[in-house]
Amino acid sequence: MPKSKTRFVCQNCGHSEAKWLGKCPACGTWDSLVEEVAVPQKLQKTYLPDETLKAVPKPISKVVETKTVRMETGIREFDRVLGGGIVAGSLVLLGGTPGIGKSTILLDAGLHFADKGIKTLYESGE
Ligand SMILES: [Zn+2]
Repeated sequence: MPKSKTRFVCQNCGHSEAKWLGKCPACGTWDSLVEEVAVPQKLQKTYLPDETLKAVPKPISKVVETKTVRMETGIREFDRVLGGGIVAGSLVLLGGTPGIGKSTILLDAGLHFADKGIKTLYESGE
């Protein structure tokens, strides 16, 4: 992942500087530069929504339902809890007391995906 850089942005006019200054050289306002983390260009394109994806309120009658593609894990109860399966690209936090079967559920789901030819990575911090 590319490194993030900080910059100092004037809260009055939006001018940015690499170093903090007491007075904005663009608009002359004192104490208006605030340190901000600049998101690398590559990340902006990859992970941040563009202007067209910003949420805009609209009447419920204008809302178009979209179908979410889910992959069934082969474990009926787990799929039910997930709303029908795992959504591609999503993240699921599976929590529980030690020995309750979290790893077993995930290994079973991974085996199910592997049987279907879906590449699966199981990673554990234990
Ligand atoms: Zn300024």
